Amino acid sequence: MADDWKQKYLANLDRQERAEAAWQATETLLRQGLTRVALAAQGVDERLDRELDALRQAIRSGADTGQLEQVIEGVADAVVRLDEQRSQQAAGNPQELLIHWLDSLSLPRELRSRAKTLRHSFAEADDIRQMEQPLHELAELVNSALQPEAGGGGLMKRLFGSQGGSKTGDREPDRVDAGQPVAANEGPQVGEFCIQLLDTLSLPAELTEQVESLKERLAGGLSERAIAPALHAIADLISTMRRQMEAENHELQDFLRQLTGRLQDLDQHLAGAQTHHRASVDSSRELDAAVQVQVRHIESSVDQAENPQQLKAEIQQRLETILRHLDEHRESDEARQHQLEEQLERLNQRVREMEKEGESLRQRLREKHEQAVRDPLTGLYNRLAYDERIVQEFARAKRYKQPLSLAVLDIDRFKRINDSYGHKAGDKALKIIAERVRNNLRETDFLARYGGEEFAIVMPETCLSDGLVAVEKLRKDVSQSQFHYQGTGVAITVSVGLAEMREDDSPETLFQRADRALYQAKDSGRNCTCAEEN
Ligand code: GH3
Ligand code: MG
Ligand code: MG
Repeated sequence: MADDWKQKYLANLDRQERAEAAWQATETLLRQGLTRVALAAQGVDERLDRELDALRQAIRSGADTGQLEQVIEGVADAVVRLDEQRSQQAAGNPQELLIHWLDSLSLPRELRSRAKTLRHSFAEADDIRQMEQPLHELAELVNSALQPEAGGGGLMKRLFGSQGGSKTGDREPDRVDAGQPVAANEGPQVGEFCIQLLDTLSLPAELTEQVESLKERLAGGLSERAIAPALHAIADLISTMRRQMEAENHELQDFLRQLTGRLQDLDQHLAGAQTHHRASVDSSRELDAAVQVQVRHIESSVDQAENPQQLKAEIQQRLETILRHLDEHRESDEARQHQLEEQLERLNQRVREMEKEGESLRQRLREKHEQAVRDPLTGLYNRLAYDERIVQEFARAKRYKQPLSLAVLDIDRFKRINDSYGHKAGDKALKIIAERVRNNLRETDFLARYGGEEFAIVMPETCLSDGLVAVEKLRKDVSQSQFHYQGTGVAITVSVGLAEMREDDSPETLFQRADRALYQAKDSGRNCTCAEEN
């Protein structure tokens, strides 16, 4: 009996020891893994560093599961934020956005080299027109990946295997389209990706209607079979844009050709006028010579005249000849003059036409430039205009040693507005907020829609404390506005990051600091302004 008990005890002890050893091995592995993760992630993001530190502390001090769970949540949260930050950075640039998306696909092995080539094409494209073909290819790649022989069922899962909608996990309950026949997690994400892609492509204003109707179709999410057509449709929009640009180019070339023709006309006319002038000079010389001949005849008649009657008759005849010559000369001169005047009139007419065409071309170029720097949705300046303006304001502020502040403003939880009320309502809200912000600014301030729901405000001759007063005023004003949708009032708030130019700043570093301050504002609970600490 005692032996039995002893046997059991030893066996138990043994099992426990083995379990403990196994646990220790696991823990060592975990620690090693964690150290590696921490090392890899070190310095990427301050908040992530802090969270990782806390996790290491917790493990070392033997924290219980509850405590551990809390710190792990912190790490996860920091990683999600980092991921969002990354995808937002990517959102500024369609190439990066596409690469980011391409990288997130889990493709069957046999398609990976095609994906790699595509990735390269996107990375190399320095103009969106160069993305048309790769986009069609991407659509084909998606098609191939969705073929049954590429892996069969759960195709969305195949495509987006590891992502599983974790990025927007906390917002999932807001979704209005759950329960569609489409995979509820990934479908809307692909649609949203396409919408984001359209937003970053900044297609010309002429295409706004087409872009909007495509976005509307995308806003409800995409079924598997609809992904490739959507990508083709986006590529087609680029193609339309390219063709429009080519047509405009042709028009411009035609005009230049016409202009060159007109200039040649002008040249010919001038040459003609010169010939006329020469002819006129020649004819005057001829007249002069003819008159001289007659005068000489008169002289010799005077010398040789035998009687006054003969002299009188001779002089009379000579004078008549001179008068005839004079008449002929006057007539031909008048005819020439007349011709010249007619030609001059024609010439004037052409010059006036040319001026008119030139003016309309200048007008068109002005309109084109205006279009290129405006955001069609809100009518505000766009990122291109911001990039131009910040460089100018920066140089001016430095030269005159004046302060310059930059605010970056981002609408809070804007995705929810889209998810709950639809993309169109989101657009309407964007317009209203843009208007509200603009009305709160000074004439000298410069407001641009920097990205999707992000705005930049350049405030010349404004120090940090004055800038803070200004943006706080507009932040409060926006928070008091109620956006009405289908009879319901929806409150919208914004978060703002503010920074003032420093000696050693560049436009980029100034923006980075304002952007960092914006993230602090988001982290501090949104609907607030954070200014950089000095
Ligand atoms: P946060 O408070 O952290 O900024 O949350 P958020 O939801 O605003 O941020 P997130 O970056 O996750 O989402 C931004 C959303 O803005 C996603 C995108 O669909 C939407 N958006 C961007 N541009 C447009 C646009 O032109 N029209 C509409 N309707 N929505 C847009
Ligand atoms: Mg936002
Ligand atoms: Mg944003």
